[in-house]
Amino acid sequence: KNLKLHEIRSEYLKFFESKEHLVLPSFSLIPKNDKSLLLIGAGMAPMKKYFTGELTPPSRRVATCQKCIRTGDIENVGITDRHATFFEMLGNFSFGDYFKREAIFWAWEFLTENLEISEKDLWATVFFEDDEAYKIWNEEVGLPKEKIVRLGKEDNFWELEVGPSGPCSEIFVDRGVEYGCGDENCKPGCDCDRFIEVWNLVFTQFDKDEEGNYHPLKHPNIDTGMGLERLATVLQKTDNIFEIDAIKNIIDKIESISNYKYGSDKNKDISVRVITDHIRAITFLISDTVRPSNEGRGYVLRRLIRRAARHGRILGIKESFLSELSKVIIDYWGRDYYKELNENKDRIISVIKAEEEKFLETIEQGMALLDNYMVKDLKGTNKDTLSGDIAFKLYDTYGFPIDLTIEILAENNFKVDLKGFNKNMEHQREMARKARDDSDNIGWSNRDNDEIFESFTSEFVGYDKESVEANI
Ligand code: ATP
Ligand code: MG
Ligand code: MG
Ligand code: MG
Repeated sequence: KNLKLHEIRSEYLKFFESKEHLVLPSFSLIPKNDKSLLLIGAGMAPMKKYFTGELTPPSRRVATCQKCIRTGDIENVGITDRHATFFEMLGNFSFGDYFKREAIFWAWEFLTENLEISEKDLWATVFFEDDEAYKIWNEEVGLPKEKIVRLGKEDNFWELEVGPSGPCSEIFVDRGVEYGCGDENCKPGCDCDRFIEVWNLVFTQFDKDEEGNYHPLKHPNIDTGMGLERLATVLQKTDNIFEIDAIKNIIDKIESISNYKYGSDKNKDISVRVITDHIRAITFLISDTVRPSNEGRGYVLRRLIRRAARHGRILGIKESFLSELSKVIIDYWGRDYYKELNENKDRIISVIKAEEEKFLETIEQGMALLDNYMVKDLKGTNKDTLSGDIAFKLYDTYGFPIDLTIEILAENNFKVDLKGFNKNMEHQREMARKARDDSDNIGWSNRDNDEIFESFTSEFVGYDKESVEANI
C-alpha cells in the first residue's frame, strides 16, 4: 500500500489503539531524570523506569511514535540506504501484560494486512536459543523455515550489565537482489541494504543478576521499535529513506538553493542526503531546547550544524542556508504531529542562523590564518608540508576542519603532515574517552550517542586519508 509518512504513523497508532494500547505523544529528545543517556535513541528509552518497575506506567499497554537521535550512525548517513541520525521510531510496549505471541502476531497483522506488504518479501530473525519465538513464527504464523534466521547474541539479544534482558526477533523486508551485496544467498544479518530491518521485537523475559545468571521474570515485558522512514521506503519503493514523500521535500529545497541537480554526481548526492538528515536532527534538537555549545548535547548540535554547512559548501553554496532549509521541516512535521516545532519556529531559525554564520566566519578566519602559514612557514622556508601540530591547532583552537586544510593546501600545491595531525587527534580522543569514563553511569547503554565524540573527531581524518598520505 502506498502510504505517506504521516499516514503510516497514524495507521500504526490507530492499529495499536484498537489493540487497547494507550497512545502517548513523543517524549522529548532530552532524557528526563536520566544521566546515563545523552539523547533519546529508541522508543523505550524514555520509559525505562516503567520496565524496571521504578515507576508505574499509565497503562500496561502503550504505543508511541518517538523522535530519536543516533549519532553513532552518523558515518552511515548518506551512504547506506537506511541510516539517519534523526528518525522516528514507532513502538508498542507491554509492561508485564501481553508477551511474545501477541507481539509477533500483531506485527505480522499490521505489516501484511494494514500495510499490505507481501508475505513473500518478509523474513524474521530470532535469537538462536529462542525456540518459542521460532515456533510461533513457523507453526503459528506460517513463515517457512528457510525465512527464519537464527542469530547470536550480538544481533538478537538485548541486555544491560544487570536487570531486565531478553531475546529479540527482528522483521526484515526483502527489497530485491538489486539492492544488496549481490550474493544470491544473502540473508537478514548481512549488513547490505537488500534485507532492510524494519522492526525489532524485544522480549524482556529475564532478570540478569550480578553473576550473569538469567532468571525468568514473573511478568515479562515487550518493547518493540520500528523505523517509520524505513517502512515508508519499503511502501513507496524508494531507493533510500531520504527519497520518501516528506523528506524528498528537503532534497528539493537543497536543489533549488544550490542549483545542484540531485542524481547527477554520486559524491554530491551523499552531501545532499547528509544535509537532509542533519537538518532534521538540528531542527528537532533546537526545538527541544538544545543550544550549540562545546559539550554534551550542545556539542552534538554544533557539530551537526557545522557538518551540514560544510556539505553545503561541497554543493557550492556560499551563503548561510540552513535556517531557510529548516522551515521545510517545521512546516511539514509541525503541521500535525510535532506542533511544538511551530511554537518554537522563531527560536529554531535564529539559533541555526547565528551558529551557521559564526561557523562561516570561523572558516574565513581559518583561511586567513592558513594563508599566513602558507606564506611564512611554507613558502618562506621552502617547505611543502604543513606540520601536524599547526593543522591540529587550526582544527582544535579555531574550529577549522581538517578536510578544508587539506583541500586549500592542495590547491596551493602543499601537503599536510597527517600522521602528526592524527597523533594529536588520538591524544585528544584519549582525553575525551577518559573524561567520559569518569562520568559514566550504569544504565541503558548509550553506545549510539557516545560515539559522536569519536565519529566527529575522526570523520575527516579518515577522509581520503590514503590518497592524501600517499602524497606525503
Ligand atoms: P540496523 O541494524 O539497520 O543498524 P538496528 O538493529 O541498529 O538497525 P534497532 O536498535 O533494532 O536498530 O532499532 C529498532 C528499529 O529502528 C530498527 O529496526 C529500524 O527500523 C529503526 N532504526 C534503527 N536505527 C536507525 C537509523 N539510524 N535510521 C533510521 N531508522 C533506524
Ligand atoms: Mg544500528
Ligand atoms: Mg540490526
Ligand atoms: Mg535491530
